[in-house]
Amino acid sequence: MTRFSAWNVFWNGLKGQKGWTRQWRDPEPKPEYDIIIVGAGLHGLATAYYLAKNHGLKNIAVLEKGWLGGGNAGRNTTIVRSNYFMPGNRQFYEHSLKLWENLSFDLNYNVMFSQRAHVSLLHSPAATDGAARRYNTMRLTGTDAEIWTLDELKRNIPHLNYSPDARFPITGAAVQRRAGTARHDAVAWAYARGADQLGVDIIQNCEVTGTIRENGRLTGLETSRGTIKGKKVGFAVAGNTSRLWQMAGLGRLPIETHKLQAFVTEPIKPLLDQVVVFGVGGAHFYISQSDKGGMVFGGDLDWYKSYAQRGNLPIVQDVAECALSILPCLGRLRLVRHWSGVMDMSMDGTFFICKTPLENLYLNAGWNYGGFKASPASGWYFADLIANDRPDPVVANHDLTRFERGINLDERGAGPDPKLHG
Ligand SMILES: Cc1cc2nc3c(=O)[nH]c(=O)nc-3n(C[C@H](O)[C@H](O)[C@H](O)COP(=O)(O)OP(=O)(O)OC[C@H]3O[C@@H](n4cnc5c(N)ncnc54)[C@H](O)[C@@H]3O)c2cc1C
Repeated sequence: MTRFSAWNVFWNGLKGQKGWTRQWRDPEPKPEYDIIIVGAGLHGLATAYYLAKNHGLKNIAVLEKGWLGGGNAGRNTTIVRSNYFMPGNRQFYEHSLKLWENLSFDLNYNVMFSQRAHVSLLHSPAATDGAARRYNTMRLTGTDAEIWTLDELKRNIPHLNYSPDARFPITGAAVQRRAGTARHDAVAWAYARGADQLGVDIIQNCEVTGTIRENGRLTGLETSRGTIKGKKVGFAVAGNTSRLWQMAGLGRLPIETHKLQAFVTEPIKPLLDQVVVFGVGGAHFYISQSDKGGMVFGGDLDWYKSYAQRGNLPIVQDVAECALSILPCLGRLRLVRHWSGVMDMSMDGTFFICKTPLENLYLNAGWNYGGFKASPASGWYFADLIANDRPDPVVANHDLTRFERGINLDERGAGPDPKLHG
């Protein structure tokens, strides 16, 4: 496989782009692997990559029912940030951001990580106090964070709706400058290429349809391409986690699958240099501008549970209303696409990287709608768990027993209703 470099780009330009080779293989599944990861989204691919890279493990397969990166990995609004508060979450997301900062170099693939700042709008003194508590905690624990006054915000983003007559007048903003966006497909392709290079078999069009259990262990998986045995198995299937969990005969999980939509407009000249988030009084909206110029945005969940990757129209209206209330100039743009993904929403809005009731089955799930930013650290810590059969202290509380142990990881304080955790 060709390594990317300035020289290679130049040389292939001269040769009519004929010198490039395939980015990853398309292997037939072997009858048995040491480790099988189910799901070739960002989390599954990153896990396979770090299993091989950090732990020197070989004989690993990633099984994917469709094409790699075709799930939420290819459907999200690509916001990357680490403005988390709760112990464990804070260290985890900051580690993820640090991995993002070096990811293109590490994977020899331009993931187009753009640290353009994440700006959460504030609308009241109480919201500013809440943000100050969170952002001061971040600063004290080594993460960059700022609170902007209204004047600073106006200087940086002049064209928001600053009318004092707005339903929710803007009073300032909480800002993380190192946050930003990345190109979602490129991240999936980069991890796939990196894992493949280290010998991982990525097997697409291979749906897991059942499991084989013996004496408290999973010994193999039934797939649309035959039975594949595995010594260790990891689930990283996002919105399909509860389905796989039932296939493993494990009953119910504290996860509900909900749908989340995203939208993109026709491309325009540079309008917005930051990621802007608007969330108050039932409104929820986030927006950035893609490198091609389209305005990319989203809002709340569709408010009902489903495994279908289709969205409903009331949310389109809701998101459009939010868009116009915060950036009225968007009213002149045409929407060119909108789509939906399936989110694994957990009861406290926080993820699981943990062991399971089956000795050799490991769980990676509960990403809610924040799993894109998490993917490097998720792969890092999940690989570590599978390789060493124990969790790193950073994710030690992110297991299935945390509810009965009274561990609070609920960033929003929204309580045990999955759809309230964004
Ligand atoms: C509209 C939208 C906007 C979002 N915006 C953001 C954002 O701005 N920032 C952020 O951090 N996060 C965001 N997210 C969340 C983020 O995309 C997800 O949390 C993350 O992608 C989930 O992890 P994944 O990539 O591994 O999942 P996926 O890409 O969904 O990977 C899971 C894979 O498992 C496969 N699979 C399922 N069942 C089986 C089976 N039986 N056999 C084999 N394979 C199977 C699926 O086909 C899929 O490819 C957003 C999500 C959506 C939908």
